[in-house]
Amino acid sequence: MKTIQAYRYALDLTPGQERDVYAHAGAARVAHNWALARVKAVMGQRTAERSYGIADGQLTASMSWTLPALRKAWNVVKADVAPWWGEVSKEAFSTGLDALARGLKNWADSRTGKRAGRPVGFPRFRSRRRTTPSVRFTTGAIRIEPDRMHIVLPRLGRLKLHESARKLARRVEAGTARIMSATVRRDGGRWHVAFTVEVERAECVPARPASVVGVDVGIKHLAVLSTGEVVDNPRHLVAAQARLRTLGRALARKTGPDRRTDRRPSKRWDRAAARLGRAHTRVANLRRDGLHKLTTRLAGTHATVVVEDLNVIGMLANRRLARHIADAGFAELRRQLAYKAGWNGGRLLMADRWYPSSKTCSGCGAVKTKLALHEREYTCDACGLVIDRDRNASLNLAALAAEYDTAGSGPVAAREADQKTRARGQVAVKREPGTTTIGQTGTVPPQGRTTDHALTRVH
Ligand SMILES: [Zn+2]
Repeated sequence: MKTIQAYRYALDLTPGQERDVYAHAGAARVAHNWALARVKAVMGQRTAERSYGIADGQLTASMSWTLPALRKAWNVVKADVAPWWGEVSKEAFSTGLDALARGLKNWADSRTGKRAGRPVGFPRFRSRRRTTPSVRFTTGAIRIEPDRMHIVLPRLGRLKLHESARKLARRVEAGTARIMSATVRRDGGRWHVAFTVEVERAECVPARPASVVGVDVGIKHLAVLSTGEVVDNPRHLVAAQARLRTLGRALARKTGPDRRTDRRPSKRWDRAAARLGRAHTRVANLRRDGLHKLTTRLAGTHATVVVEDLNVIGMLANRRLARHIADAGFAELRRQLAYKAGWNGGRLLMADRWYPSSKTCSGCGAVKTKLALHEREYTCDACGLVIDRDRNASLNLAALAAEYDTAGSGPVAAREADQKTRARGQVAVKREPGTTTIGQTGTVPPQGRTTDHALTRVH
């Protein structure tokens, strides 16, 4: 199975190397801004000529927005626009032009309706202060040194890694991985290199091929499983979040920038903002680490994982930070489960967002009309079952999978063929790039419950 994966490592750059990378990132910005100005000028010229009544054939020739065309145009003018062009790799200019070509394409596709989702704005000029410095190498000498603690990139030369790249190096040596590109970027207050790698993965099967697990994602815990296991948030996360609030308050007391009066931030504000930024990165890293450990274990163990759909509307409506973070974490959990299920030969099922996983009794199937958020125990009025709220929800999700499978061979199977009879409330699943989704979708109304609720196979 071939997949495209990213391997990302922190870099330890010397001051000289840092200057070189900044020069490359600056070159990318110069090429981007020059090409954007050219595109805008041509568009403006054609609009003006049209307004004079000039026939379409006589207009100034339109400009191609593809990367090869932009690169060609840049090569004609680079000696005038950037006399220093020889000092950096040509890949730097490609980085900027490629970003522009993508931006223009996304904008055009969004306007013509070819691209779904939120409308995409027209590309904007990049400022030195507000752009993330980044440069991408696609050709030339890109390799990991035999000591696995250094990499070699064109022009930048030998760069030290902060951690060993042994996992990637082993794959490259074994011939099961091919590095396609390397991007050096400053994010979260430090430099990283991200390799885009084509990996040949061995076919796997989950450790327990008949096992089904329901996952309920929460605020207090990372997740509660239908097996009864409570997966806690990573250690140190609570402390890191507390520090985030402290640093946020400290920043608010300092003299920040003010656009109305053109006030520049104080040095103390700058330092406090950097501290807060690092704390944010740490919280995000801790959360991601916990999610990766959980999803790797789930996808490697169970053949079927059942989760709930993300409540996007509720997410927009609520302004509580904790809930918001949990929801954001859930989106990431679902994304990871989808591709890891694919790697392990398992599957991910998703209950639609209207399915009352918390309000349904996992013992008898009775559905409550109301269950307040603070009620941590579920008490069934019909059969008297008393169970932890999240555990109850995860059990309901796991039970849905059994119904999905019986329905697959039963009378509901006929419905699967006709995609138009999708149950109300079911939404299309966003497929992440890089995951090899089979795209098999079936719906099933849970037995003895309302037919409005459906289960979708994500992977
Ligand atoms: Zn009950």
